[in-house]
Amino acid sequence: MIHTWHVVANTVEIEWATTEQTPYLDVQTWTEVAGELTALVPEPERARLVIADNFARTVDAYARQAPYEYGGAGDAEPAYDPDKPDGARSGAKTIPLTDMTVIVVDAGAIALGALSVRRLLHHEAQHVRLRQHGDMAWALHRRGPFTRPPGAIFAFVYVAQSLLDEYRCETALEPAVAHASAAMTVAPADFADIAAMFEAITDQYRSDGDLEAAFTSTLAGLDRLASFAAYATATIVRGEQTRAEWAAVEPVMIALDELRAVPSAAATMPQEDLAETVQRLATKAGLMAVSVGFRIEVDEDADQTSFFLLNV
Ligand SMILES: [Zn+2]
Repeated sequence: MIHTWHVVANTVEIEWATTEQTPYLDVQTWTEVAGELTALVPEPERARLVIADNFARTVDAYARQAPYEYGGAGDAEPAYDPDKPDGARSGAKTIPLTDMTVIVVDAGAIALGALSVRRLLHHEAQHVRLRQHGDMAWALHRRGPFTRPPGAIFAFVYVAQSLLDEYRCETALEPAVAHASAAMTVAPADFADIAAMFEAITDQYRSDGDLEAAFTSTLAGLDRLASFAAYATATIVRGEQTRAEWAAVEPVMIALDELRAVPSAAATMPQEDLAETVQRLATKAGLMAVSVGFRIEVDEDADQTSFFLLNV
């Protein structure tokens, strides 16, 4: 019997969830940028890049394989929707499986050009890094002891986790990679779309009086606001924009100092610091909601949540 030894390269594996008909498949660009991921993650052999021509469906398929504590099969998460309420669209999503972290990327993102694809994947690589360092804020309340700050609805904890992870990923980006794609970097003028999204919620409530629908839309809007504020703060830290340029964008100012005190995804944070930062950011999330016109309060004694539209 002949044994052949294969040296398995320590690289991020690529999976093509595409068909021959995928018209925009630029194999060379994808392969080149995917090759860079290997140097960006601590354990490349436990990471996979999935290039998908049906992005939402592929994300859902992987999300169902995620362990329970991350929101998997037992958790009945809603189907993934890459379209955000302000009209933005996600091009990639990182999903932690049991012993593997998967980045699913929309094959259509190639239309943005190689520099934007690079920026997109370098950002996702930082999510892989957080996960492999055991350092994600996302779902930390399911992985260990966590106390929700009194008065803050649980949705604020999710907003806080998103603020923290997105900020740490964005600040770990090499500035040259970030600078090279203006299309994927936020600027103060972009806040107009976020503000308009919240104004539309109030307008809708004025016309239909549906408080429940307004509440649901507000939570979805806050989720979008969290990643916007995290990206915005990172532009200040990376030296692209100044604090003064962002001064008029109140939710960014609310989160700024708390986020700036946190290390990028390149460094690890002790679990207690991570949990305490999430608690403080959850309180900030409530202030961010007020700054865009909504107050959400939890009465701990009565175990009751109140929702106020401040601009009606
Ligand atoms: Zn991200």
